[in-house]
Amino acid sequence: MLSVIVPAYNEEEMVEKCASAIRDILLKASILYELIFVDDGSKDNTWEQIVRLSIQRTDIRGIHFSRNFGKEAAIMAGLSNAAGECCVVLDCDLQHPPEKIIDMYKLWEKGYEVVEGRKSSRGDEGKLHSLAARIFYSLISAAVGFDMSDASDFRLLDRKAVNVLLNMRERNAFFRALSSWIGFKSTFIEFDVQERSAGVSKWSTSALVKYAISNISSFSTAPMQIVTALGVVMFLLSIIFGGIALVQKINGIALEGFTTVILLLLFSSSIVMISLGIIGFYIAQIYEEIKGRPRYIISSTCGDQAHDTVD
Ligand code: UDP
Ligand code: MG
Repeated sequence: MLSVIVPAYNEEEMVEKCASAIRDILLKASILYELIFVDDGSKDNTWEQIVRLSIQRTDIRGIHFSRNFGKEAAIMAGLSNAAGECCVVLDCDLQHPPEKIIDMYKLWEKGYEVVEGRKSSRGDEGKLHSLAARIFYSLISAAVGFDMSDASDFRLLDRKAVNVLLNMRERNAFFRALSSWIGFKSTFIEFDVQERSAGVSKWSTSALVKYAISNISSFSTAPMQIVTALGVVMFLLSIIFGGIALVQKINGIALEGFTTVILLLLFSSSIVMISLGIIGFYIAQIYEEIKGRPRYIISSTCGDQAHDTVD
């Protein structure tokens, strides 16, 4: 069986469209499937829609979070409740074309364990957004060690890969990087990002920045090494300038140099503060992980075999 996992946050207009699109495609290909909607604490009627559909149709199950825990948490909840031998994750807004599930499934049947959906075009994004996305992806690619610039959350995972992911106790799991990091026999398909047919993107700029920072720091400690490098540079500079100052003092031509002192002071103290901030960020991450709180809290479920209340 194939488990299709769909994270949904404030998608009341999309749930039904998405469910019928997936059903039509999978029935036509006669693939046995279950459809799991994970309502990520929506504030609109998404959950009511899911419950309604799950009563009408036996192929649909729903999981409802007690509040918004983020897409990554929703994906993890879907995976841990999936019963299929393979799982596909796709967006509720149909920006990931469901007909590609068939291609992924065929590759899985051929023995591939991870089938990644790569964006062949990025759809309609603002200039600033796509610039920010490029910067983020080049940083994260460097951190993870492989090219993530076209990566998406649209993926098929074999049961083996799903179990590996579920056994990772990382709270801050960055799904699309982790699911490549685990290895396995992988391949990819390409897809064009579709227009969102209803609703709006759920990402505010601040949410994206937070998402970027926490995912980079969960995969790389390079920012802390940058701190060390800056410290070394500052130390070398201080030797040079200190030497010059001493020579001038000995020769009796020490300048008044007030501006230089102020500038150096401002410069070095700002670097110290930025560095402390970066280190503080990692300590915060460690603190988050060490508390060991659940990734998500499920407040209710619907559909037949739904189980598990808390991760
Ligand atoms: N989503 C979610 N929780 C969130 C934000 C988004 O489950 O906190 C879901 C959303 O319902 C959609 C998918 O993640 O199915 C992608 O979100 P969106 O379309 O807003 O992102 P974009 O396509 O703009 O990157
Ligand atoms: Mg979208």
